Amino acid sequence: MKIAVFPGSFDPITLGHVDILTRAIPLFDKIVIAVGRNANKKYMFPEEQRVAWIEETFKDEPKVEVGKYSGLTTRYCAEVGANYILRGLRNPADFEFEKAIAQTNRKLKGDLETIFLLTASGLSSISSSIVRDVIRNEGDYAQFVPPAVRVS
Ligand code: ADP
Repeated sequence: MKIAVFPGSFDPITLGHVDILTRAIPLFDKIVIAVGRNANKKYMFPEEQRVAWIEETFKDEPKVEVGKYSGLTTRYCAEVGANYILRGLRNPADFEFEKAIAQTNRKLKGDLETIFLLTASGLSSISSSIVRDVIRNEGDYAQFVPPAVRVS
């Protein structure tokens, strides 16, 4: 079984995340979207809300599961039996950051490969942090997120 973990904050899930995940579905038998809990990060949306939006977005996709974790991503991968980490790349800054993490993760768990998909053109400017700003300032955020994400 090819199992991948797609780790992230998903605060909130965006069309960029949906694109990467959807394109990865044919490559794996199962993908666990893993909402990470990082003590140093301040989230805009509660974990349960972020998870519920992801579950709703992929409810018709049997290969996709949603999980939560804290601590090392490599340890979570071992727990769920994943040999692959899935990440998206938007730009050179993402690459530099992801390279260091992927190389470290491989040292921590030698059988773990990180698979990168390049963002679809047109979606590379979408980030959760910019979407949060749009939401905070009451802009039209709906164009950047899947329909499940609605803020009242
Ligand atoms: P993190 O806090 O780990 O950066 P995010 O939720 O911001 O979590 O991102 C999770 C993954 O989704 C990362 O691999 C990130 O590069 C990717 N991603 C985020 N936005 C986009 C996008 N617009 N296009 C492609 N990949 C994206």
